[in-house]
Amino acid sequence: MELLLGKTLEQLQEVALSVGLQKFAGKQLAEWLYVRRVKSFDEMTNISLKGREALKARYTIGRHQPVREAVSVDGTRKYLFAIGEKFVESVYIPEDDRATLCVSTQIGCKMGCRFCMTGTLGFHGQLTAADILNQIFEIDQLAIADNRLPLSNVVFMGEGEPMDNLDNVLRALEIMTASYGCAWSPKRITVSTVCIPAMKRFLDESECHLAVSLHNAIPAERAQIMPAEKMFSITDVIALLKQYDWSHQRRVSFEYICWHKSSGSIPGNAVQGNDTIIHAKELLRLLRGLNCRVNLIRFHEGVEDIKSNRHFPGSDEQQMEWFRDYLTNNNLTTTIRRSRGEDILAACGMLVAQES
Ligand code: SF4
Repeated sequence: MELLLGKTLEQLQEVALSVGLQKFAGKQLAEWLYVRRVKSFDEMTNISLKGREALKARYTIGRHQPVREAVSVDGTRKYLFAIGEKFVESVYIPEDDRATLCVSTQIGCKMGCRFCMTGTLGFHGQLTAADILNQIFEIDQLAIADNRLPLSNVVFMGEGEPMDNLDNVLRALEIMTASYGCAWSPKRITVSTVCIPAMKRFLDESECHLAVSLHNAIPAERAQIMPAEKMFSITDVIALLKQYDWSHQRRVSFEYICWHKSSGSIPGNAVQGNDTIIHAKELLRLLRGLNCRVNLIRFHEGVEDIKSNRHFPGSDEQQMEWFRDYLTNNNLTTTIRRSRGEDILAACGMLVAQES
């Protein structure tokens, strides 16, 4: 059966007509799905009984609860969603008066970043707009039912490269921000990318914030840890970003996970550090003239990293503070992001969805 969740207003109008309802019922369906967020046709009380029966015969709503929840000592919660026989994870991160949800856009990932546990999974499929919205709606409703903070922000930084599933990501963003949908401001949503050519379409078709996974400003070194660099070099990415206006509502930020140089005990596993004065200078040079901020994140070592001897030793606090101060003193706004949910493997780059 076809899902209704994830359909745009235009598509819902077509659905209405296809089951013998008036076109305006498409707007009513959008309100039930995206504003009231009901999970059954029987709750759609302004749609005739006959219309609801006709809908039930051909469509399902497409909502499903997470199959597992893990709670961190810091309040971060990781949820596991079943997608057919596979699984994806989403992370709820409460902080002061905000709650941010980190959603997945693919099952696994093709990009193969060496420091990322998700990258070790390989690629197992695209998520639909319905799969993406379901993560948001389910976790928001669970938070409200538990008297926790409802979602104030969503970041597309979970499993997968959003620009590699752009049709579905853009559709989910449209529904989240459209007046017929959830009517969120695009300022509440950030989409991350390692940077592939498809990102230009995102820049043109969405007003949501952008977070670039940078991690090294020297292209040759970046290519060693992020194969996507060979597809679209960071210097070309910055040239592209400079063509857009980041001085008003829309923001671009750069994620920079910090680690030391490591020789690795297995040949070929040596890791180039990215936290030296050379790297700080290159970063300043690369981002000069772009209105942006940099978020430094300490590398989190996961179980798979240790097993595979893929050792990226996280920079210590002192080095990160020095790196931040060096950039800040040279007029590049830089913050150190506090790590969340490490104990439940929910921190950046740690998502490896498995049922057990
Ligand atoms: S960092 Fe992002 S793009 Fe790179 S492998 Fe991990 S999930 Fe994929």
